[in-house]
Amino acid sequence: MFEVEIYNEDVTLVKTGTAMEDGKPIMWAIAYRIGNILIDAGCPNALDDLKKYADKAEIEEVYVTHPHEDHYGGCSAFSPRSTIYACEPDIKILKDPPVLPEFFQFVWGQPTPLVDVEVLPLGFSVGDFEFEVIPLPGHWQNMVGFYEPHRKWLFSADAVPLPTRKYIAMPEENIPLMVKTMQRIAEMDIDVLFDGHKGPVPSPNEHIQARIDFILDIQKSALNLHEEGKSIEEIQEALGLEGPWYISLTEYRFRIDHFLKSLLFDKAEKRLKV
Ligand SMILES: [Zn+2]
Repeated sequence: MFEVEIYNEDVTLVKTGTAMEDGKPIMWAIAYRIGNILIDAGCPNALDDLKKYADKAEIEEVYVTHPHEDHYGGCSAFSPRSTIYACEPDIKILKDPPVLPEFFQFVWGQPTPLVDVEVLPLGFSVGDFEFEVIPLPGHWQNMVGFYEPHRKWLFSADAVPLPTRKYIAMPEENIPLMVKTMQRIAEMDIDVLFDGHKGPVPSPNEHIQARIDFILDIQKSALNLHEEGKSIEEIQEALGLEGPWYISLTEYRFRIDHFLKSLLFDKAEKRLKV
């Protein structure tokens, strides 16, 4: 699925996804166009439409927030005509994408390798806009967002996850670090948060705080139960956390115990190894 939606005179949403039987997207992955640049590039399942878009859109640069398939998988529609930028340690993933479990190939698609990827600069400008590259670790340890201080815009990728009451996680996610990043975002001066799936969120602090409170609540209960000697499995049961219908289809890329273990044992700092 592919849709282009104008948000205001400066920002356009480029939405990609995969249709369910009812014709609605499973979930949108949203790339943002400002002038002749793109922030993220959508998912591989929309590659044909993205190629048609790339033919006329004259995108010069694509800035990738993190190497998950729904954010960089569309880059091959724009490369080599557009220059692709990503965080240095993640470039190898864009050049040699891991083969995804079948479920994710269905939901987003399998990215194809990119030949040329440049190292993300510390900042960049587009017309009158000046973007600062802001580290947003937690969901992915090298994830970045792009902040425009004059307009008070933050393009936040997956830093504030959807939905608010989500308690499944991937092994690479560090939930305490994600909370710290969200707390930092809440302290920033932001008029609009441009989320990678939810779209633009004006005055985002209530939305961010709801997510922080939900996680800290579970963490407090989980820590108490852990101190009582309960196992991860027992904690999950005591808190009544049940996985969504598709959890086994993810081949355990998403798990409730990844989320609980991270809450109990991870420090809010970058891991040396992913
Ligand atoms: Zn992601």
